[in-house]
Amino acid sequence: MFYLDHNATSPLRPESLSAVTNVLSLGGNPSSIHAKGRAARAIVEDARERIADLVNGAGAQVIFTSGATESNNLALFGAAEGSLEGDDSKAGGRITRLFVTAIEHSSVLATATRLAERFPWVRVATLPVTADGVIDLEGLRVALREGKGRALVAVMAANNETGVVQPIAEVSRLAREAGALLLVDAVPAAGKIGIDFALCDYLTLSAHKMGGPQGVGALLVRAGAPLAPQLVGGGQQQGLRAGTENLPGIAGFGVAAHVLRDAPGERDRIAHLRDHFETRLKEIAPEAVIFGTSAPRLCSTSCFAIPGLTAETALIGLDLDGVMLSSGSTCSSGKVAVSHVLAAMRVEAELASCALRATFGWNSTVEDINAATSSLLKLRERIRAREAA
Ligand code: PMP
Repeated sequence: MFYLDHNATSPLRPESLSAVTNVLSLGGNPSSIHAKGRAARAIVEDARERIADLVNGAGAQVIFTSGATESNNLALFGAAEGSLEGDDSKAGGRITRLFVTAIEHSSVLATATRLAERFPWVRVATLPVTADGVIDLEGLRVALREGKGRALVAVMAANNETGVVQPIAEVSRLAREAGALLLVDAVPAAGKIGIDFALCDYLTLSAHKMGGPQGVGALLVRAGAPLAPQLVGGGQQQGLRAGTENLPGIAGFGVAAHVLRDAPGERDRIAHLRDHFETRLKEIAPEAVIFGTSAPRLCSTSCFAIPGLTAETALIGLDLDGVMLSSGSTCSSGKVAVSHVLAAMRVEAELASCALRATFGWNSTVEDINAATSSLLKLRERIRAREAA
């Protein structure tokens, strides 16, 4: 089996697996005041520090969630609702405008749509990207100047389909100049590029994209940024996210973040594999198009198309050869639909229907790449033979 789908989910790192299993047998509720509870609390607090460390944040800023989907929901709904309450001068007033880029993950885009229904005074606008998939900064500057009231801006640190990195420092500067709040979805970018939470008000992470377990994520929130809890009940996590913490998941998440932070060689190795893949791809299919290459990209992601070879056909052929990669975005990879990200980059629908995504991670090998390119070569030759017939 050759796994090239790390942006969908990265296999569990062995260090995370042992943390998860150890904690599963340990048990304990972090809210209990007895010894077992205190041991559980120490595990949670330790993980908080390690995760915050990865993005230059502080442990106290970390709220554990069930994953990045929940984190994005909590940030957007929580900010809009939280901005209605409390000390206006501190909170900066109610949020009346939400700007999202056209390439955000569906957990941001769908939440923005729901938010506009639930808070009718919030105007939602979609920010375009360039043909390289980078946010149009001038468009953002103009958008922030227009309209009244406080704005919230959601820009991902890097795109999960193309790997294109967004200019977060510039986005942050524009947002701050306009008194706007900034949510950064750092799911595929964390640990691959430097992320500085000091530039953001809210930041989203997911454990399973960095070799941690599935079903656990985090939202970092700047002290003083508005946030109303979306899950209420017990007073866990300073009342911001009720529910007994997912202790094994959090332990595995903390370890994954720690291992990733201390593995700078891993990034170089992954970048080398990605470059090797793209060089081989161009050798076997010179007509192949690789998306987003004029912009800075994550070392882990290659989004490409071989014209004439549809993603649907390719995925079946690759799967028969034991090669696993995906088409379009992770969460819609079950259904082969044209990616909203490529559409926003104005990629023609026919070419976009051929788009595939190979993503590499901590345990990727050169054998994975060779298997993928051999399988793609076979598929391409079959198509060319059919065309010639
Ligand atoms: N944001 C981005 C950019 C993602 O790629 C994903 C996962 N596909 C999510 C959010 C949602 O993450 P989770 O699976 O943890 O809910």
